[in-house]
Parts: sequence; C-alpha cells; structure tokens
Amino acid sequence: MKRLLILGATGSIGTQALDVVARAPEAFELVGLSAERSHEALIAQARAHGVRRIALSDADAAARAAEAWTGGEVLGGPEGLVRLVAESGADLVLNAIVGSAGLGPTIVALTEGVDVALANKESLVVGGELVMALSEATGAQLIPVDSEHSALHQLVDGERPGTVERLTLTASGGPFRGRSRAQLADVTVDAALRHPTWAMGGKITIDSATLMNKGLEVIEAHWLFGTPYDRIGVVVHPQSIVHALVSLCDGATLAHLGHPDMRVPIAYALHHPERVDVPVRTLDLAEIGALEFEPPDLDAFPCLRLARAAAEDGGTATCVLNAANEVAVHAFLSGRLDFMGIPAVIESTLEQLPAARVHSFDTLYEADAEARRIAAESVEVRA
Ligand code: NAD
Ligand code: MG
Repeated sequence: MKRLLILGATGSIGTQALDVVARAPEAFELVGLSAERSHEALIAQARAHGVRRIALSDADAAARAAEAWTGGEVLGGPEGLVRLVAESGADLVLNAIVGSAGLGPTIVALTEGVDVALANKESLVVGGELVMALSEATGAQLIPVDSEHSALHQLVDGERPGTVERLTLTASGGPFRGRSRAQLADVTVDAALRHPTWAMGGKITIDSATLMNKGLEVIEAHWLFGTPYDRIGVVVHPQSIVHALVSLCDGATLAHLGHPDMRVPIAYALHHPERVDVPVRTLDLAEIGALEFEPPDLDAFPCLRLARAAAEDGGTATCVLNAANEVAVHAFLSGRLDFMGIPAVIESTLEQLPAARVHSFDTLYEADAEARRIAAESVEVRA
C-alpha cells in the first residue's frame, strides 16, 4: 500500500486523482489533502475518503475548517502546507497545485526523499535546474502527470541512453486554432474557457488558448528528460489522440495514443510502476477516421515563441516568464486585460527583467516577486 498525499485536491486534477484512488482502495492510504481556500469542498473530500489531515494555504479558510470539522487535524497557511508535506510520512505526493505556489511543496517533498507525481508543471518551469538537482541528490523520483510528458515517460522508458533524437509534444491548438492575430483581438473570457478537447482548471485552459501551455510544456520536457530545446518539437493536433512522439536514432518514431482523459496519466503516475484498469473507451482509429497535424502559428500565438526564447535565455528567464504569465492570465480572467495583452505583458516583463543566474531558490522567489510587480504595472499601462 502506498501512503499518498494529494496537494490541490479540490481542483480538476485533484478530484480526478481521488476518483482514481477510490477505484483502487487496496493500493493507497490517503495521508492528507490540501487546497488553497475551498474548505467546504476539502472537508467533504476528507470525510468521503477517510482522511485525517488537511491543509488550507489560506489561514482564514483553515480557521473556518477547524471550526467546522472535528474529524482530524487542520493545518493552515504556507507553513501548514510545508508541515503536511514534511510530516505526513507519504511515499508519494501528488502535486496538483496550480502556479508557482506549487514549487515550495515540490522542493519539500524531494528534500524529504519522497517521490512526486507532478501535475504542477510550473515547478519545473520556475525551478527546473534546482528541482532536478534535488531529485538527483535525494533519489526521489519525479513522475509526470501532464499527459504529453506521461506519454514521453512511457515511450522513453524502454530506450537506451543516447538513442532518443527528438521529442514531439502535440497541442490541441485550443479554441482559437486557425484564427489570425487580428481575429484574436476581441475574444471573450467565456470563449477562451471553451477548450475543444480537455476539461481543466481556468488557468491552464487560458494557457491552452494562448499556446503558453505548450511553451511551459517544452520547458517541462527539457528538464524531465534532459533533452536540448532544439530537439523538442511542437505539432498542433486538434483531435488530441496522439499525445507525444519520440524519434529514435534508427529512424523509428514511437507515438502514444489514447482518448483525451486525464485519469489515464494520473493512474499511470500514482500506480507507477504498476499498470491498472482505467475505465476509458478503447481507441478505435477507424471510428475516428482522420488525425490532423499542422505547425503552430507563432504570429497569432506569440506565447509559444516567448516561452522558447526564455528557455534559451535560461537562468531566471523562465521564472520571470511564468510569473508574468500568471499575472496576465489572472488579469484576463478578471476582465482587466485583453487576450493579446497576455503576450504583450509577458514580453514587456521579460524585456525589463533580463535573465540572471540562479544561485538558490531565493534567487527564484525574488525574480518571481519582481516579475509580478513589473507585470502588474504593465497590465495597468495597457488598461
Ligand atoms: P485547478 O485550478 O482546477 O486546481 C488547483 C488546485 O490547487 C485547487 O485545489 C486549489 O485549491 C489549489 N491551489 C490554487 N492556488 C493555490 C495556492 N496558492 N497554494 C496552494 N494551493 C493552491 O487546476 P488544475 O487544472 O487541476 O491544474 C493543476 C496543475 O496541473 C497545474 O499546474 C496544471 O498546469 C496542471 N495540469 C492540469 C491538467 C488538467 O487537465 N487540469 C492537465 C495537465 C497539467
Ligand atoms: Mg499537457
């Protein structure tokens, strides 16, 4: 039995993970759950799954939870989340927190030598170099939950070092695929939230509409698999049936296919190295008929270009990129920034904050805070 801790339990990935766990009660003991502030939902989950320890990052929400729930211990604030990770005796932590807030818990888990099932791609975008060094030093594994990286993890698994030439990530293209830059000027929040193939949390859904999500994923793949950026490609594939491809030195290219359903990569990461039944429709290619592929349009979707440029700059650049993106997406979702303002804010933030070397996690926290300040100013200027 694995002792499992789920961070970000109330979100899209978190709730699907609880579904995966409920289907295999003999495989897991749930040692804790966390959320930011949705205390009622978190308490309901703790009751339903018999969990005795929860953490809410928002201290007020934690205080309310402690009044409402006597079934176990409630930890509060950022320190509460750190304690939950460090003291729960977990064998595996699923990090399904959204944004750079997920970096701290990833660091704590790896420092304790605990394996991490990583949905929080921002951990690697912000701190990839240090996070991978930490994993190496403590021997704690990172198992990707992101569908493309889960596919790559499975494809690369049987191959000898040195045989993999190229990784290719597929992108659905989001709800605005095929539109020109001019046609994106006045898109609404509702339209941007209507993703064609995946149902996900708000932030990643907007990232998918701007293609920033694929940019973040290129950086995530670079750190997870140690592949140079010029050997990581992106292809738009609207059906989201092929999740990733690996090209080998002998000319063979391996692909990973399946209906888009996050329970598949979640189950893979949680049960790894075992495989279990997941109730998804069998893939019938004759029924699907055609799979389409096209290059991404970097003029209409500059976020992918900005992410690649930051990746090449290295150091703090991807941390700055991520922080500016979080500020811009938040501003777009709350109606304070237009859709094309998202890349504009990120670009201007990157210009104002040149990449610096990363010496420690403190360098990253400082760059993150500075980038948020500059990006917020840039949102105001554009408004
Ligand atoms: P979500 O918004 O649905 O859920 C986020 C969870 O994190 C919630 O439980 C929330 O309470 C918690 N949270 C938010 N801010 C927090 C903070 N500051 N401190 C602590 N906890 C906080 O997000 P999601 O769609 O489930 O995505 C989670 C992560 O997984 C993201 O990094 C996303 O990029 C990645 N991911 C998601 C999907 C998907 O299908 N949803 C697919 C691939 C990767
Ligand atoms: Mg993905």
